Amino acid sequence: MDKKKLFINGEWIESNTERTRNIFNPYNQEIISLVSEGDKSDARAAVAAARKAFDEGDWAATPAIERGKIVHKITDLIERDREELAELESLDTGKTVEESRWDMGDIAGVFRYFAEMADKDDGAIIESPIPNSTSRVVHEPVGVCGQITPWNYPLLQASWKLAPALAAGNTLVMKPSEITPLTSIKVFELMEEAGVPAGVVNLVLGPGNTVGAELSENDDVDLISFTGGIKTGKRIMQAASSNVKNLALELGGKNPNIIFADAELETAVDQAMNAVFFHAGQICSAGTRLIIEESIHDDFVEALVEQVKKIKLGNGFEASTQMGPLISGDHLNKVIQYVENGKKEGAIVAVGGGRPEDPELQNGFFYLPTVLTDCTTDMSVVQDEGFGPVITVEKFTTEEEAIRLANDSIYGLSGGVFTNDIAKAERCVAKMRMGTVWINDVNLYFPQAPWGGYKQSGIGRELGKTGLEEYQEIKHIYRNLKPKPLKWFN
Ligand code: NAD
Repeated sequence: MDKKKLFINGEWIESNTERTRNIFNPYNQEIISLVSEGDKSDARAAVAAARKAFDEGDWAATPAIERGKIVHKITDLIERDREELAELESLDTGKTVEESRWDMGDIAGVFRYFAEMADKDDGAIIESPIPNSTSRVVHEPVGVCGQITPWNYPLLQASWKLAPALAAGNTLVMKPSEITPLTSIKVFELMEEAGVPAGVVNLVLGPGNTVGAELSENDDVDLISFTGGIKTGKRIMQAASSNVKNLALELGGKNPNIIFADAELETAVDQAMNAVFFHAGQICSAGTRLIIEESIHDDFVEALVEQVKKIKLGNGFEASTQMGPLISGDHLNKVIQYVENGKKEGAIVAVGGGRPEDPELQNGFFYLPTVLTDCTTDMSVVQDEGFGPVITVEKFTTEEEAIRLANDSIYGLSGGVFTNDIAKAERCVAKMRMGTVWINDVNLYFPQAPWGGYKQSGIGRELGKTGLEEYQEIKHIYRNLKPKPLKWFN
């Protein structure tokens, strides 16, 4: 088995540690790859390469249209290798290959969007209030970016960071999740093939508490962009204060879905499942909290449970599979404990609530799709991000109560409202404290629209114009057209 390496200053190299890590398929725990495992010294070397490329190289000063062409070329290569990338992502995460194919389409879309954006940034002319002067605003790259990504959407989350950083003229060091690095490694190969200059993009594989921590605290890093859990996010925020880095945090969510009695029942039930059972619920925007109007509660739950029982678990490479495993044994244990806590607090298991019995699934980290009813906002299953295929059900009687319940969370990533009354829907979403809200839909996002969280779901936005601006500094340039002495001091 070929050992995958780190990419620093345009070269594929072994880590200084000479340590390696096995990468597993969560469907059957087979070893699918071997990677070199970096540490702080590798991260420092990568930051030094990115610093030199930014300070002394041509990338930042390369005309934006030329940078855009390189990002277009990366997109072409991703499209060329889309099937290989999708299969790699499914091997690494266990998600169905059909879902990974969608991901790869989205990823190409993100690179294409920022490739197009690269030269569309015209800055701005300001009407100067001072006679005989001009005033204008320009955007410049931030500098060296540290980028840390999670395991649930390995390449998708990487694309939201790589594409705008490159389009804006930055250099970067990426650290993917240590358990799902394979598609990120492949995309670094594609960026090399596309002609990104040496030192501009660097990849360090390895654990968060060494490689990730170094990127967060290193004074030569100007911006740290992190997607992952809230606890890690808080640690990174503290570390980033060492040199007052620019900071972008995309953290967790506990996302409510309000279902009014006048919603179209079949669609709302179907979307309630789509909201939470794709990728076994390991989605930051998973709609894990159903908030149902009391008058339809029983019918809705009955219809939901009937559908959930039919979800087919299995190997993501088989066409009949609808849901794959969880990412790891550790994560499976967390989900088991999370549901047990809910049961102790009074939640009722309407369906699921344990491991599947199918002998073929015993080597994988499977957990049954689960519906918990009789939930209230004081329960840990309603407040904590479980990150598994588990949905909690609460009831409401008035619009105000539905909104109050939906907002009763430390998180504010996303939420949905299902109703045929559009005025009611608009009243609700106006009051929902979340970065993205959907009316009669779930989990939709696209490169043109910003993505990010209110409250403890994060700081800043990825995607859209704002996603590019995260990777830019804003400079005001003032010019005196008739300089003469002020004579204040003489
Ligand atoms: P995690 O926080 O455990 O790890 C994320 C990354 O941080 C990994 O690369 C990890 O190695 C690294 N890391 C760990 N400790 C670190 C440290 N001390 N310093 C620097 N880096 C460190 O998260 P995870 O379990 O990989 O991912 C799941 C989480 O990600 C969920 O909470 C999910 O909601 C969140 N997420 C959010 C979004 C979003 O857009 N808001 C998208 C995807 C995932």
